[in-house]
Amino acid sequence: MSRRFPCHRWALAAALFAASCIPAHAALRVFACEPEWGALAQELGGKLVDVAVATSALQDPHQIQAKPSLIARARNADLVVCTGAELEIGWLPVLLQQSGNARVQPGQPGNFAAADFVRKLDVPAQLDRAQGDVHAAGNPHIQTDPRNIVLVANALATRLQQLDPANAAQFAQAHAEFAKKWEQAITRWSAQAAPLRGTAVVSQHKAFVYLYDWLGIKEVAVLEPKPGVEPSAAHLQGVLAALKGAPAKMVLYAAYQDPRPSEWIAKNAGLAIVKVPFTVGGSDAAKDLFGLFDDTVARLLAGAAKP
Ligand SMILES: [Zn+2]
Repeated sequence: MSRRFPCHRWALAAALFAASCIPAHAALRVFACEPEWGALAQELGGKLVDVAVATSALQDPHQIQAKPSLIARARNADLVVCTGAELEIGWLPVLLQQSGNARVQPGQPGNFAAADFVRKLDVPAQLDRAQGDVHAAGNPHIQTDPRNIVLVANALATRLQQLDPANAAQFAQAHAEFAKKWEQAITRWSAQAAPLRGTAVVSQHKAFVYLYDWLGIKEVAVLEPKPGVEPSAAHLQGVLAALKGAPAKMVLYAAYQDPRPSEWIAKNAGLAIVKVPFTVGGSDAAKDLFGLFDDTVARLLAGAAKP
């Protein structure tokens, strides 16, 4: 515990003059853009953090409105934890600006972008947002590889210690415990998922490149013509024709997405269809980060086992 003094009623008058009178429950206020980072901050911060998450697993993180309720949350935050890599480019900059909170602006210790700490995939040679491409700065969906979660956890633990040095030892201990459990879990998931290596799949959105990179899964087609662009009927017909030459086993879509394009291709190309939770809360089993990967691996194995 840090040396903080509770504001008892008898101390109220004195408190007006005493700057040392801080409410006993002065947890670090964390504002997370996506559920996976809220869950990670909770793992690393425990009772020392008060976490608010801007979006749910059933919302498209590329397309969020900077609502007044979200702006109000960001106004009081000590730390904003988001994906970065331009995933939130359509809403986070305006949200941060409207918040008027100097501590969480880009470049400040209170601003943390997870993608800064991992090796990004699909990085284009030059920025091109033509035709609505929402992955212009590289693929932002880094949370689908648990090895990335480790890298982000290392950096986030350091940041929490920096922002709340009085509790640095507790943050370090929580981080060490999480990292140990997580490495054991990765070993387990990798072994369970070994049969998936080399499996050919179709993705509705380019949401799973890191997952495929981890498990050695082969993406042979994508239903969206460009990231974030809904496939037309003609485009789906083209994918169907291409699959005749390069057959796939299953089609994957994220829990937040409209499943109809995946359902269409599954039916017409004879593929298994797999709804991936994609983040914490994306399925009943994905209650925390461990459940997220338990369930993701289980669903992929079930899809691959379909005749
Ligand atoms: Zn995307």
